[in-house]
Amino acid sequence: MQEATPAVSAEKKPVNFYSLTLEDLKAYFKSLGKEQFRSQQVYKWVYEQRVTDVNQMTNLSKSFREELPKFLTFELPPVIQHLISVDGTQKFLFDMGNNMSVEAVLIPSDDRLTLCISSEVGCNMACKFCFTGKQKLKRRLTAEEIVGQFMQASDRLKDGQRISNIVFMGMGEPLDNCEAVFKSIQVLTNDWGMNLSRKKITVSTSGIVPEMWRIGAAGVRLAVSLNASNDEIRDHVMPINKKWNIEKLFEACRSYCRETGDKVTFEYVLLKGVTDSIEQARELVKLTRSVPCKINIIPFNEHPGSGFERPDDSQVEAFHRELMNLGAHVLLRRTMGRDIFAACGQLTDAKLRQDQTMDISNSILGGKRVRNSSGGQPRV
Ligand code: SAH
Ligand code: SF4
Repeated sequence: MQEATPAVSAEKKPVNFYSLTLEDLKAYFKSLGKEQFRSQQVYKWVYEQRVTDVNQMTNLSKSFREELPKFLTFELPPVIQHLISVDGTQKFLFDMGNNMSVEAVLIPSDDRLTLCISSEVGCNMACKFCFTGKQKLKRRLTAEEIVGQFMQASDRLKDGQRISNIVFMGMGEPLDNCEAVFKSIQVLTNDWGMNLSRKKITVSTSGIVPEMWRIGAAGVRLAVSLNASNDEIRDHVMPINKKWNIEKLFEACRSYCRETGDKVTFEYVLLKGVTDSIEQARELVKLTRSVPCKINIIPFNEHPGSGFERPDDSQVEAFHRELMNLGAHVLLRRTMGRDIFAACGQLTDAKLRQDQTMDISNSILGGKRVRNSSGGQPRV
């Protein structure tokens, strides 16, 4: 269990509420000489009622309400842009200070509303095909900044809508930022808080093998960016494979399956002429047989200067068909939010994109297809 947040006196800076698990908040209140059950009450006001004005927390004593702003703030990372795609996908750009930003994407489907969130600004894993990977890690996000992405998106939903799933598939490598990522999961799944089901949270990793046990231990789902059917190609497209190769990666996947009884989701990006041949489809099925899994194939989302291309639709279909014919549990991921740069692997620090996409912005972002609702209410 997390150590108690150090006691603060009234002169110290208030703590950001969204950084605190319920246990942290209890310990914090205790250190201030306050009753611990107040923590459940405040959790409920903030997460269930979305009340952050302490004056409205009517079951707290007047004197406690007066003191509370000295102890807690309820600040969220500011939304500096909110774009809505023609297909209903929404993208949020957050100001993370010092000229840095991250993105989260809300993806609607028939039976779920999934929020794809970021864990870092930039990423040190340097996968060759990934837009985020083009920037070195600038900063790991804090738990409050991860929870904050969820709260900001949630606050902009229509009445009756609720985010049902979270995927850590935005910017950054979640297992390079374990403390904040798993703390945010604890906060969001608390039943006095947002009460999200752990089974509806997926952590995606490029394969930081020594940290992978944490995903099973936290009771959340594991996705692995495999992206190659053998070590030679994986070494080339994902440098992390040189440190932990496919054998080591699969050993960690099998442990996860044994311990949780769940399947792993393998993500496999189709890169024209690199990972999209029929032979590779066969090799992929053979390779993944030793792990209870499903495979998500993702046609590469092109970005300027990547040096990779998206395969033709016919090749994507042929690859998909081959996997299905060989009995693999496979899903071809629809690309959503392309018009607002919200597609897989396209999330990045806005400044970098600005520099890189000037030349194509007219063709992709042009016209009325994108509605920018920054600052206002979403129009969905
Ligand atoms: N760092 C984590 C999570 C974020 S990346 C990870 O790598 O798993 C989320 C997914 O986007 C990964 O599966 C990655 O392979 C995929 N991806 C990255 N760039 C892409 C692109 N340009 N087109 C399609 N998928 C991409
Ligand atoms: Fe980082 Fe994931 Fe992109 Fe690789 S695919 S560079 S791990 S964000």
